[in-house]
Amino acid sequence: MSDTKFAKKGMTFRKSVEHMVDHAIEIMELDEGIGSALKVCQSVIQISFPVEINGKAEIFTGWRATHSDHRLPSKGGIRYAPIVDQDEVEALAALMTYKCAIVDVPFGGSKGGLVIDPRKYDRNQLEAITRRFARELIGKGYLSPAKNVPAPDMGTGPREMGWMTDTYRRLFPDDINYMGAVTGKPVEHGGVRGRNEATGRGVQYALREFFRHGEEVKNAGLEGSLEGKQVIVQGLGNVGYHAAHFLQTEDDCKIIAIIERDGAVLDPDGLDVDAVFHHMRENGGVKGFPDARFESDGSSILEMECDILIPAALEGVITTDNADRIKAHLIAEAANGPVTFEADKILQKRGVEIIPDAYCNAGGVIVSYFEWIRNLNHVRFGRIDKRFHESRGEHILTAIEMATDSKVPDWLRDQIARGADEFDLVRSGLDDSMRQGMQEIIEKRRSHPKIDDYRMAAFVIAIEKIARSYRDIGF
Ligand code: NAD
Repeated sequence: MSDTKFAKKGMTFRKSVEHMVDHAIEIMELDEGIGSALKVCQSVIQISFPVEINGKAEIFTGWRATHSDHRLPSKGGIRYAPIVDQDEVEALAALMTYKCAIVDVPFGGSKGGLVIDPRKYDRNQLEAITRRFARELIGKGYLSPAKNVPAPDMGTGPREMGWMTDTYRRLFPDDINYMGAVTGKPVEHGGVRGRNEATGRGVQYALREFFRHGEEVKNAGLEGSLEGKQVIVQGLGNVGYHAAHFLQTEDDCKIIAIIERDGAVLDPDGLDVDAVFHHMRENGGVKGFPDARFESDGSSILEMECDILIPAALEGVITTDNADRIKAHLIAEAANGPVTFEADKILQKRGVEIIPDAYCNAGGVIVSYFEWIRNLNHVRFGRIDKRFHESRGEHILTAIEMATDSKVPDWLRDQIARGADEFDLVRSGLDDSMRQGMQEIIEKRRSHPKIDDYRMAAFVIAIEKIARSYRDIGF
């Protein structure tokens, strides 16, 4: 959603984020100077460049904002969308700073955007546009392994990240750390296993941790585990697809509706997420998906009765226009900024619990951090110690069998005498970060007399950490 559209429904996206931060600063009684420093983006660049498309020069415009470089590199995705502007990019850059602080990723916050509808260009054209955009960012100091590291966001993926990394490598062939200039790359080009699924996987881990806390579950008007919970997902892209896929296949959630650009498909018994995804790939939308009801007014489905609503498409979809009618018990903000500041207040009054974006979709940046470390280390996780752990497991099992004079069952042997590979390690690190993040948020909400929602708890945690860093080393 563009800021123009966002603004029509209230304040701009940036203002919405600023209001949330203001509220947190007020609760914390934070030093005014640090509060003001936190609210501004340290630098923003606007770039316009021509690319020859079908024999004619077409001008493209994009932005990259660095909200904070209190930790380097600054980190954040690059989105390709027909409507994106400086305000939106600044808001997203600020969210990145808070996100990194909440989950203890030692990066500053940044974000980029290019005004483009990627569906209108073929592969070669997109490559030319992406490489040119990357050259501009590199030339102006907004893309490098040490200072500013992009990742995928809406409309971009591993392919675009691969082109950007290669552009950097060609310009700086002597930089041995060139792989760390961009994250979210294809695995064959320095990407880490598990990055593509990371944000959606992180949403699943956030929900799993939430459901381990009985009191919180009860407070949301729910009970039991994730099993059988009725879930609605908006946006079946990178984040929405992986979240829905894992929740369905590993936690037995029922995905009762999927909302896409062209409408929504519904099945009270649960949709087959992979089948909807493949149908969408082949047909460009969800319409026509067999054995499910189709509703052309997709956004009305956000208001349908369900246990968990996962907006995973774009910002500003729950506003003062529909907040009164949202019937979900719990909203997991997989997208950035899906609930506006004013809508958040309405939902809070109505007792709808929200797992906020600044924590809920942090899986992407957590695994980007692992990818960056892997690139600087020049070695795949697990490569050095996998076999060592396997043989140690074998020795322990042999010792147990000798001492007890009985055989360890094969299934248990396979589990114990198994060294972790890169996938295992990345998932374990992601799970641990998401668990800790949720636990800290719950603890802050329950222990602070002025905090009564998870969003404020998350912002207060982030601001405390950033303010500490500012106090220690200066701005
Ligand atoms: P994507 O482009 O892969 O997917 C977005 C999906 O939303 C697409 O399937 C698109 O068709 C759908 N969509 C667009 N407009 C819609 C509308 N009006 N109604 C319903 N569906 C609509 O993007 P993504 O990477 O999955 O990002 C989605 C959100 O998650 C964004 O807010 C992004 O900033 C956020 N996010 C992404 C990542 C990441 O790692 N990709 C990380 C953190 C946050």
